[in-house]
Amino acid sequence: MSRQDAPTGATRLAAVIGDPVRHSLSPTLHNAAFRHLGLDWTYVALPVPDGSGEAAVEAMRVLGIEGVSVTMPHKEAVARAVDELSPAAARLGAVNCVQRDGDTLIGHNTDGVGFVQSVRSQLDFEPHGRRVAVLGAGGAAIAVIAALVEAGADVAVVNRSSDRAERAVEIAGPNARVGRGADIAEAELVVQATSLGMNATDPLPCDPDALRPGQRLAELIYHPAQTPLLGAALGRGLTGVNGVGMLLYQAGEQFRLWTGEPAPVQVMGEAVGLAL
Ligand code: NAP
Repeated sequence: MSRQDAPTGATRLAAVIGDPVRHSLSPTLHNAAFRHLGLDWTYVALPVPDGSGEAAVEAMRVLGIEGVSVTMPHKEAVARAVDELSPAAARLGAVNCVQRDGDTLIGHNTDGVGFVQSVRSQLDFEPHGRRVAVLGAGGAAIAVIAALVEAGADVAVVNRSSDRAERAVEIAGPNARVGRGADIAEAELVVQATSLGMNATDPLPCDPDALRPGQRLAELIYHPAQTPLLGAALGRGLTGVNGVGMLLYQAGEQFRLWTGEPAPVQVMGEAVGLAL
């Protein structure tokens, strides 16, 4: 099948559902990959209000949509509505990607594996046997913590609310523990996985004086492109990246699940301004 200039009756449809979703970079990433490989697919953003995630899964069945990316606030609702869950999605109780296999809808979670691929590729950081401090214990943080533990890292979880940190540790398994401020200075990789830094008035997620040259900092936020903490880290001589790499690699994994083709991550990265 070759990609037409405009969709035809044969074009396969993929979409991201979320609220809000109009700002999403996912259509740019996936459509660049479809074009590059000459696949007759197209990808759109569908605003779906809170509370309608399960209905959106039923719509996917009826409309024959081939693949769906899932973002806030639907990840848990979609996990309840699909027919099967991958091991990662089952463990997290959250789905960010739905794959169609005939009439069966399979829920996956590619956030964690995408994050690990991004630090390997962008920071030249192999997690196995390394000390990592993760700031945050929300939905994205838990996916990242579990994937880092699975990749062999020792992870300290530093979060404002101790109950969420404990839940993250319970999900991730024995190589994760609830951490404290001192773990930040001792880590080889610091992961900023709170939502602090998206708004100009946000406090810093940790004391930047805890950071030292030689450490790496992976920020999950990509809008703004440089949070105050990432700026402070770069100013102190750390190597750091924002969350675009994670976004890219989790999308690449979704692309592979849907199409069976390895994702052209270089091309997808260029489409969102990321040189690999
Ligand atoms: P979430 O579930 O709402 O979790 C928010 C986290 O931030 C929690 O750990 C929360 O701590 C902490 N936090 C919020 N306000 C705080 C404050 N005033 N002081 C201290 N801690 C505070 O959000 P999420 O879904 O995990 O997303 C987190 C970030 O990751 C977002 O900015 C999102 O855009 C980004 N993200 C990026 C990607 C990517 O591909 N790059 C993918 C997913 C998410 P408590 O537990 O104490 O409330």
